[in-house]
Amino acid sequence: MCGIFGVYNNNEAANLTYLGLYALQHRGQESAGIISSDGKKIFSKIGCGRVFDVFTKDKLNKLKGSCAIGHVRYSTTGESSLPNAQPFAINFSGGNLAIAHNGNICNAKLLRHRLEKEGSIFQTSSDSEVILHLIAKSKKKTLEEKIIDALTYLKGAYSLVFLTDTKLIAVRDPLGFRPLSIAKHANSYFISSESCAFDLIGAEYVRDVKPGEMIVMHDNKLHSTIFSENKKNAFCIFEFIYFARPDSKIFETSVYNVRKNLGRYLAKEKPTSSDIVISVPDSANVAAVGFSEESKIPYEIGFIRNHYIGRTFIEPRQEIRDFGVKIKYNPVGETLKGKAIVLVDDSIVRGTTSKKLIKMLRKTGVKKIHHRIGSPPIKCPCFYGIDTPKMSKLIAANKSVKEIKEFFGVDTLQYLSLEGLIKATGMKKENFCLACFTGVYPIK
Ligand code: AMP
Ligand code: SF4
Repeated sequence: MCGIFGVYNNNEAANLTYLGLYALQHRGQESAGIISSDGKKIFSKIGCGRVFDVFTKDKLNKLKGSCAIGHVRYSTTGESSLPNAQPFAINFSGGNLAIAHNGNICNAKLLRHRLEKEGSIFQTSSDSEVILHLIAKSKKKTLEEKIIDALTYLKGAYSLVFLTDTKLIAVRDPLGFRPLSIAKHANSYFISSESCAFDLIGAEYVRDVKPGEMIVMHDNKLHSTIFSENKKNAFCIFEFIYFARPDSKIFETSVYNVRKNLGRYLAKEKPTSSDIVISVPDSANVAAVGFSEESKIPYEIGFIRNHYIGRTFIEPRQEIRDFGVKIKYNPVGETLKGKAIVLVDDSIVRGTTSKKLIKMLRKTGVKKIHHRIGSPPIKCPCFYGIDTPKMSKLIAANKSVKEIKEFFGVDTLQYLSLEGLIKATGMKKENFCLACFTGVYPIK
């Protein structure tokens, strides 16, 4: 769960990267970093916390040059500490090289073990560092060839941006798990995990980096190489459900439209009569609007969310997470008292959030609660870069829907079907990774 951003050929490279990361803050709040290059030297500022906490005007002014890459991080492998904060940079026989990674390398441990046996010394516990070591060790001639050589060893999810003294390079893994897009403004090019960052800086979306594609920005041009041809994709469907911002376009599709469709199909599949529809803000807002439009039940604001704390489980420790739910949402008594409500959420993972919100709703005097979830039951953990707990902590892996309904104390509980989920995207099933719902993992 990370966001990556890159700027090529712009005098404001570091400032624009800062703004890009600002727009991608929802993808990770543990650390933020920018590395820039002026063609000879690289400059770096990386720290723990949010973009706003890490950078000041003075610090940004020191990041010189017309090319930069940036990263916001939420750890799914490796601990949450400063040495693991990205981008990482090395100076090797091929010159300066910095990397920012979104995804998760499934065979990182194995590769690291092998590299360490051959003498590599690792600075971090992050899976992304393995990629740099593989590149540095490659016997190929050019940097581009070395990168492609390194990628052949990787199994897993990786959207990457690299920065060298004179080039910016973007790569997406052969199955395209995580999104990555290109934009342009005047003679500058931009790379971002999500298109909402392009909107903020006034750049125009050009296209996605294709699965299995490497794009090299050099001499003011883009050079594309397909390093792996694949008939199938494994786009992470959870990006549409929860993770990406609704104002982004990912996988060439509007997240907003998909999310609204999730609510529409949910209302069609699992109808109910109620006085109002409310959402768990903010991630389920758009789906709840879709549910309301389809069911003709009015949408109301049932919870006010305190925006000045992180999302639940962005802070990895369980103690903080429980505390977070309590201070994060406050029910609006005026809207809710004495009503029968549809409570829409985008997903249930551990069940902690729903359990607490429902208790709060009952205290407020809600008469009936029909809980509707805009995705199927999550039964399996993710190994491709979205933070989900192990199976024993996933409520739907351990309880039936009826048992979950009783555990929550709601009047009804219904999930969207897998078919409904896929239909809502308007894309074919073969395009997606659905492993957290089906247990069918695209990569071992
Ligand atoms: P839980 O309390 O574990 O059931 O979490 C479910 C809530 O967390 C839902 O309201 C989701 O919007 C949100 N959520 C779902 N997946 C994730 C994730 N991978 N990281 C953080 N929050 C999530
Ligand atoms: Fe996304 Fe789920 Fe696949 Fe992970 S397992 S990549 S969360 S669809």
